[in-house]
Amino acid sequence: MTESKGGCLCGAIRYRLAEAPQAVAYCHCRNCQRASGAPVLVFGTVPRDAFVVEQGNPRRHRSSPIGERWFCGDCGCQIAMHVDYQIDTIDIAIATLDVPEASPPEFHIWHGSRIGWFETADHLTRYPDAGPDGSV
Ligand SMILES: [Zn+2]
Ligand SMILES: [Zn+2]
Repeated sequence: MTESKGGCLCGAIRYRLAEAPQAVAYCHCRNCQRASGAPVLVFGTVPRDAFVVEQGNPRRHRSSPIGERWFCGDCGCQIAMHVDYQIDTIDIAIATLDVPEASPPEFHIWHGSRIGWFETADHLTRYPDAGPDGSV
């Protein structure tokens, strides 16, 4: 995989990933919905040191007892989620990549809190809870 880059809406934050995101998943949890204002966020996991912020300084919000959300303090864009018990990895908001098409989702998590009118046309596994990854 070639190195990929991403950033927030306003351009204040730019980052690069030294490795391809793994375990890319739709997250339908209520925290993602409220953090983003969207029905779902898509996250992929990379080693913590493979996520390099090249410009700007993401703000952090402890959105639950298990972790922090990294976001742009200027435009509010959700950049990443860092979970306390997975300190060596970080979950990247895939839609903020410059080429999100390169990292398609592999499954759904927290499908139990999916908004009823929102459904995607795929046959990926729908986990009602945190799923195999156990995060986000
Ligand atoms: Zn921004
Ligand atoms: Zn979530």
